[in-house]
Formats: sequence, C-alpha cells, structure tokens
Amino acid sequence: MAGWQIIDSHCHLDFPVFDATRRQLVKNAQAAGVSHIVIPGVMYQDFQRVIDIASIYPHVSFALGLHPCFMQKHSLSELRPLAECIATHPVCAVGEIGLDFYIEGYDSVAQIALLKAQLKIAKANQLPVLLHVRKAHDSMLKTLREMKFEQGGIVHAFSGSASQAERYVQLGFKLGFGGTLTYPRANKIRGLAASLPLESIVLETDAPDMPLFGRQGEPNRPEFLADVLHELVRLRSEPIETIAAITSTNVMQLLALKSN
Ligand SMILES: [Zn+2]
Repeated sequence: MAGWQIIDSHCHLDFPVFDATRRQLVKNAQAAGVSHIVIPGVMYQDFQRVIDIASIYPHVSFALGLHPCFMQKHSLSELRPLAECIATHPVCAVGEIGLDFYIEGYDSVAQIALLKAQLKIAKANQLPVLLHVRKAHDSMLKTLREMKFEQGGIVHAFSGSASQAERYVQLGFKLGFGGTLTYPRANKIRGLAASLPLESIVLETDAPDMPLFGRQGEPNRPEFLADVLHELVRLRSEPIETIAAITSTNVMQLLALKSN
C-alpha cells in the first residue's frame, strides 16, 4: 500500500464496459492508492444503475445529471424526476452537466437551457456541480455568473486557458486533471497543472475514457490515477505526499465526502 491516498473525482465506473471486471477494478484501484471514487451520471436511463453500483462500495460516491453530449437522449420532462432523485438520494453533486460546443451540430441554446435548469436544481439543494466543458468556457463562466451560482464544483478534464482557470477558481471551482497530463505534447495543460495552486487541482481518470499516454486503445481504469499523480509530481515542486493529500482534501471538502 502506498504511503499516500488519492481520489478519482470523475470515473464512469457504472459503464457496461466494466460489468465483467468491476469488483476487481475497484480492488485494484484501492491497492493502487485510490481511496475514493466519484461516479457522475450522464443520462436519466442510467441513474438507477449508478445508484445501485455506488451503494455496493462504501468508498464510491455519485452524482446525477444530464450530460450535454447526449442531448438527443434527454427530454425536458426528465428535469422534474431528476430533481426528485437529487432530493431523495445521497448525491455528492449534480453532474455531469455542462456545455459542449465541440460536438458536431451542437445546439447551444438547448444546451444552455438544460444547463441552467440543472444549475437551478443544484442551487435549490445546495449542491456543487460536476462540469463537462469543451470549447465553451466563456459561455459557461457567463452562465455561472448570470445564475449567481455559488456552490462551486469541478470543471472536469479542464482544457481552458490560464485566465479561464483563474475565473473558475474565483467562482469556487476546482479543475480536474487526468490522462491528458501524461501526453508529452499537452504543453498547455501540463503548464497549467504545474503552475496552478494545488488548492485548485483535483485528479480524475474519466475512465473508461481519456486513456493515458501509451495506453491508447484500451479502456482507462481508475487504478491508473496513480500514474496521473506521478506525472503531476514530476511537473511540480511539492512532495508526492503533499500533492496526494491536498488534491484529495480538495475533493473531500468540495463534495462533502466522508472519509472511510
Ligand atoms: Zn465524464
């Protein structure tokens, strides 16, 4: 067992690709130092599966939300049952919600409307949010300000600029870093991860997505979070124990997770 522990703040442990191996996967992650895993929900049809899987493992938490990449799967009639699920289950956040202006044929008006409705649910329940944002940081920041959203959250797989990062931090957000860090050519993200205050950084795998460098083509796994940590250690000046402890505390406090 490593002398440090880390938290995977974004892992789609419920995805069917893990059905045959999930128990072993969770064991391996724990053995690799991953003390807690957060599963974000992506669509209403999957919520029960997320809830069921999280209930099996004491160190697995979950969020529920409607993901902007699956707009055609969502309907506005799901907002009321979403709000009910949020109010009646031990969610740690509303998510994964957000804006994705990178996908082909995106409808920004529909995405922003769905985002606002879910930010409202988060506000009403005093919960933070797990954000997915691609090519839409300025619109996201504008929406958060317009909504006077003060619960903060995590911008997962952060890909914006230094000034956008700063604006998120001012709004009470942490920035998620994962497999992208391990790509030698990811200069912008590596530079940000090296220079941001540790208090703004959280770790994530986004498994089964966002494979690490050298592991392209295979499903990403939560145990590989240790490799993300090691890469961050190479980029920064603090000792590994400090980086592990602070990035974990960031997630625990923000999402009000209980240590186990
Ligand atoms: Zn995700």
